[in-house]
Amino acid sequence: NVTKKHSSDSVINLDQENNWNWPGLNLQWRSNNVRRVLAKDGRQKCTITISGYQSLSYFSDVKNFCWFLEPEFAEEIKRLHKLVGNAVTDDRYLIVGTGSTQLFQAALYAHSSPDAHKPINVVSAVPYYSCYPTVADYLKSGLYKWAGDASTYDKDEPYIEVVTSPNNPDGRLREPVVNRSDGFVVHDLAYYWPQYTAITSPADHDLMLFTVSKSTGHAGSRIGWAIVKDKNVAEKMRKYIEISTIGVSKESQLRAAKILRAVSDSCQDLSDESFFNYGRRRMTERWERLTSVIKLNGLFSLPEYSTEICNFSGVPTKTHPAFAWLQSKGMIEDSENFLKGHKILTRSGKHCGVSTKYVRVSMLDREGTFDLLLERLSNL
Ligand code: PMP
Repeated sequence: NVTKKHSSDSVINLDQENNWNWPGLNLQWRSNNVRRVLAKDGRQKCTITISGYQSLSYFSDVKNFCWFLEPEFAEEIKRLHKLVGNAVTDDRYLIVGTGSTQLFQAALYAHSSPDAHKPINVVSAVPYYSCYPTVADYLKSGLYKWAGDASTYDKDEPYIEVVTSPNNPDGRLREPVVNRSDGFVVHDLAYYWPQYTAITSPADHDLMLFTVSKSTGHAGSRIGWAIVKDKNVAEKMRKYIEISTIGVSKESQLRAAKILRAVSDSCQDLSDESFFNYGRRRMTERWERLTSVIKLNGLFSLPEYSTEICNFSGVPTKTHPAFAWLQSKGMIEDSENFLKGHKILTRSGKHCGVSTKYVRVSMLDREGTFDLLLERLSNL
């Protein structure tokens, strides 16, 4: 759209940084206008250039506790959390990871003990994010092992509970369910951002995980961060990342820093709509469209979501999760298979610890794909 808009606009060529040969324009005029136009253009706000001679070292900041964390990325993380009001970062340890997936593994490592005679149990209430069991068990670690549904956990043994809020796959807001003194809790807050749900208070848990995959959608950058209270836990998590990947890509961190900066700027510039308000508006539209299609065809039901005042936007905000969690109402036993027959690809509830009547459908795909989804659901 930006390209189209500019191509019918006399300033379009200002967008092309190397086009300096216009007759009749003095350079100063041009460069001021280039700057003005570039600043208005979201693509440039989020563009970085890294030359071949830059960012070669393993180290980002040898004085920092997390020596592989780029200082400007750390600054942007703190700035954004302050602006949004969704997490406390003051006096906390900040650790960057190759996606929050790596940090999740680091958290399991940090809470396990090499001297224990048994692996520590990892639990999460159903329906849980389908990667947790896989990640916990894939390497058959002697340190930790997947132990299933937290709501039915009754072993008299130490445990790690993963609390995902809003939850993947069903979008519900969650709290720990085991609540025993011999347990650790990892809060996966990948979706605690204003486009998905009301921000009701700054989260202040012992260990919180965030990711650009869900805050801005840059899953391909593989960047996540952990906010940790306890120094010992933070040190063990850092150790895990040192051993597994000797740090985290600088290119990705620098790009993520630039993107977070643009997002924060959009929240402060009153003349523009903020990134999150835009996201929330689009999610609201999509959810309204999906809900009416689901009601009409009558085959599936969706969870109900609450509305709360969002401290970030100041308006009542309903939770609009990144996934629709459909449950078949009647005869359909295997919803994934049924929908596949109608060219709709979903993830079965069986991967999330519940029945095959449930499926998870992404609400974040491109507009054309989302339109097709609604069309195909209407035709069932
Ligand atoms: N946690 C949750 C709850 C998720 O839904 C996802 C992505 N599907 C992740 C973590 C993974 O995040 P990342 O891309 O940062 O590894």
